[in-house]
Amino acid sequence: MARCRSCGAEIVWVQLKSGKMNPCDPALVQFWANPNARGSVVTQQGEVVHCDFDGPLEEMTDVGYISHFATCPHAAQHRRRK
Ligand SMILES: [Zn+2]
Repeated sequence: MARCRSCGAEIVWVQLKSGKMNPCDPALVQFWANPNARGSVVTQQGEVVHCDFDGPLEEMTDVGYISHFATCPHAAQHRRRK
């Protein structure tokens, strides 16, 4: 499995619809799509969806990956390097 170059955490690379590769945390999480939510998730189809991370189970949208940029303790370095 790949590892983040900044913090050493395990990551998976997910190809976005745009063709860009996005590092994500390897665990799949349940999400509830919500265009007004502050959080976002990358689906297994490579779509970035704004969503909440809890809600009624029967209304769950799908499972997806959390972008590692959102959880990396060194995310600021990722941004600076760009
Ligand atoms: Zn990291």
